[in-house]
Amino acid sequence: MAKSKTPKYVYYFGGKKAEGRADMKELLGGKGANLAEMVNIGLPVPAGFTITTEVCTAYYKNNKKYPKELEKQVKEALAKVEKEMGAKFGDKNNPLLVSVRSGARASMPGMMETILNVGLNNETREGLIKKTNNPRFVYDSHRRLIQMYSDVVMEKAAGIEPEEGKGVRQQLEAELHKMKEAKGYKSDTELTADDLKELVEIYKAKVLEVLGKPFPEDPMEQLWGAIGAVFQSWMGKRAVAYRRFEGIPDDWGTAVNVQSMVFGNMGDTSATGVAFTRNPATGEKYFYGEWLPNAQGEDVVAGIRTPNPINEIGKSEHNAHLPSLEKAMPETYKELNRIQKILEKHYRDMLDIEFTIQEGKLYMLQCRVGKRNGPAAVKIALDMYKEKLITKEEAVLRVNPSQLDELLHPIIDPKAELNATAIAKGLPAGPGGASGQVVFSATDAVEWTKQGKKVILVREETNPEDIEGMRAAQAILTARGGMTSHAALVARGWGKCCIVGAGSIKINYQEKYFTVGEHTVKEGDWLTLNGSKGIVYLGELPMVKAAEENPDFQAFMKLCDQVRKLKVRTNADTPEDAAKARAFGAEGIGLFRTEHMFYGKNSEEPLFILRKMIVSKTEEERRKALDELFPYVKNDIKGTLEAMDGFGVTIRTLDPPLHEFVPNRQDERAKLAESLGITLDELNARADSLHENNPMMGHRGVRLGITYPEITEMQVRAIFEAAAELIKEGKKPFPEIMIPVVCDVKELKHQYDIINKVHAEVCEKFGLKKIPHLTGTMIEIPRAALTANKIAEYAQFFSFGTNDLTQMGFGFSRDDIGGFLPDYLEKKILPEDPFQSIDQEGIGTLMKIAVEGGRATRPDLKIGICGEHGGEAKSVEFCHRIGLNYVSCSPFRVPIARLAAAQAVAKEVLAAKSSKKTVKKSAKSKKK
Ligand code: PEP
Ligand code: MG
Repeated sequence: MAKSKTPKYVYYFGGKKAEGRADMKELLGGKGANLAEMVNIGLPVPAGFTITTEVCTAYYKNNKKYPKELEKQVKEALAKVEKEMGAKFGDKNNPLLVSVRSGARASMPGMMETILNVGLNNETREGLIKKTNNPRFVYDSHRRLIQMYSDVVMEKAAGIEPEEGKGVRQQLEAELHKMKEAKGYKSDTELTADDLKELVEIYKAKVLEVLGKPFPEDPMEQLWGAIGAVFQSWMGKRAVAYRRFEGIPDDWGTAVNVQSMVFGNMGDTSATGVAFTRNPATGEKYFYGEWLPNAQGEDVVAGIRTPNPINEIGKSEHNAHLPSLEKAMPETYKELNRIQKILEKHYRDMLDIEFTIQEGKLYMLQCRVGKRNGPAAVKIALDMYKEKLITKEEAVLRVNPSQLDELLHPIIDPKAELNATAIAKGLPAGPGGASGQVVFSATDAVEWTKQGKKVILVREETNPEDIEGMRAAQAILTARGGMTSHAALVARGWGKCCIVGAGSIKINYQEKYFTVGEHTVKEGDWLTLNGSKGIVYLGELPMVKAAEENPDFQAFMKLCDQVRKLKVRTNADTPEDAAKARAFGAEGIGLFRTEHMFYGKNSEEPLFILRKMIVSKTEEERRKALDELFPYVKNDIKGTLEAMDGFGVTIRTLDPPLHEFVPNRQDERAKLAESLGITLDELNARADSLHENNPMMGHRGVRLGITYPEITEMQVRAIFEAAAELIKEGKKPFPEIMIPVVCDVKELKHQYDIINKVHAEVCEKFGLKKIPHLTGTMIEIPRAALTANKIAEYAQFFSFGTNDLTQMGFGFSRDDIGGFLPDYLEKKILPEDPFQSIDQEGIGTLMKIAVEGGRATRPDLKIGICGEHGGEAKSVEFCHRIGLNYVSCSPFRVPIARLAAAQAVAKEVLAAKSSKKTVKKSAKSKKK
């Protein structure tokens, strides 16, 4: 019998060998897996261990208790770390200090907790002083530990929610300020060793006073407290909110990394920094980053001190005067540069790395795939493909649909920008342009947005508690912080317009205004931000779209086109939309809603005639109105067929219930009555008779064509005549006539006969043998999906109307879901809005049945989708998997659909490759 093995909860890394690997992110979290990988490829990493995500999950399942084997495994791993580092945790002569950090599977910047210097107390610090000969640094580390630990472990993790400004951390910071003031110091660096030693005692007393508990002296108690706080933070408010936005499941859990401390704050030969292997804002290929001498890692990320540029090439006008690491510590920089190259080559992606230099020796503390904005993602994918670092398939997977969407987002109209008043400059942290009204708190940003306003969130700096407000705002502006500050990291991840470190703005939160130079900007005033250049303008400037002119965007889309199999069409009802969609790469129209011509621009005359038709009593009256309407319909269709010349244009016959077009105003009704030669009473009676209780399932779509075949006849004639005229003009129109709301094949047959008859008549009139076209139907009623094999006897193509199919499949009125859908999402009854992303389990099954049924009858049946889902990435992937020929979506979503279609193929290709590898491997091991 197999022995039941004790589960492994703790993975050691250090020296030359780690127990984990980069591909163990699920278990070790991103940070833990990558620390292990860096050790394995021989990079200098301070030894440590990772407690797995399974412990987190078990902790929450088991009433916040750890598995019983954990303690022993932590002790064993700690012993290994001690051995590697030549120091002992809690030892008063030669103490080891550790950091405790969270590390989830997906990076959640700034979302969870970090505690540094764990293991320091009044005894161990003496040992550290002896070792380092640097009492100031040791006392400073001690007071930092108390500050972080009391805040994260003793307050937050304990569930204490102090009043605004009364948190233990702020109270300790106030003590620090008090001391500085009393001594007449301007900066923290003036505090002496003795000052800091005194501060440690003041801090401890304050902790006891505020939290009613002494700060723990026992290093082991500190360690377990810190580990517990990390697990606790996984369910903290801000982590939960972040996961909700990012769609990260709660049950992934976080790992905990316990790692030997190395110190960047041991004097002038020590430093710390954050860097990217390529520029994350533009994608340009050069080592890019920030560093601070004599500092701990948090100082760079927290945006408290403005960091220095890492090298000369990365200098900008904002930081040209600051020293680069390249100049200040040339040897160490060389080594770091060598390592970043190794790392990028090894991971074959742009990485974000954290490092610390302790007295001239370089240590790597973290590496992970770097967040980047849309333009950078596109450039990096293309460049790495050209450098042969990645394949075509990998390249298309490197840009996610929302990043591509960023490129389609507006920039400030360059002409307007020339004449605008720039009031401040900061670092360009998030791309594009945005304007909005100024608010000064995250709560206001959320509130104002709810009221339909566009806002810009202005803060000194942001922290994870501001996340919902940052999300709601059009753009974010901060007075402090560098390119790796919280605001910059988060905004870049979202592709949101953002400017950080605009140091000239002085904010007054109490009175809700900021001043900059001679200007005062109050809450509610309009600002416009150029996030690509870091410029703040007064007022609201017009925006323009930028994607079409971007050569990287065009090249990347071409790459997607080489990979994808699905065709991408557009839903367009006007020649202008059709032209726009073609510029975005649409390969035809998947839905032309004929009824659009009765709404909006130039619709007055055709609408009046349509209304006459609708209230007609006899066929004769109706035919008269239809004859009048005919030239309008023909012209409208002709314009779009021409704009899409050479591509298929799916033209749908009239779909909405007629009563939608009946005028409500009495003066309009009177005019209509007059033109028909009937009384207003008679007209009112006719109009009222059209009323339906449930019009969405009433007299609409094909049902109109069954009751009034002459309506179908007029439309079909308009289509064929428009096409015939274009053929005569030497064009290649290709209309595809689509019948909506079909539930039975006999409805289709009925319409098919009309179409054939009119086709013959128009051919004769124009002296043509035939007008190339297809006749097909929408599949948007569950019964049509279920009887698709029969419907395909007449239909030459299917197009899924997933808006109605979702409506009728769920029995959810698409116009009334606002009343209950939010509850369904909040209570997790549905994972997401089925009108946005196809419900693959239910509606998707209906689609599969229809695909199989249809192709059983007609193997070459062309099948597409024209519901809103056709431009949503997950739905597009699903459409690929079930074998559709095309998706169709609104013009601006065409690029997203092209990308999603390519990614669907790329995923299959990569999965096939990796399963081939596994087969090979197992064949090899069998041979052995
Ligand atoms: C659909 O039902 O999915 C569709 C495209 O048609 P409409 O939205 O016009 O009802
Ligand atoms: Mg529909």
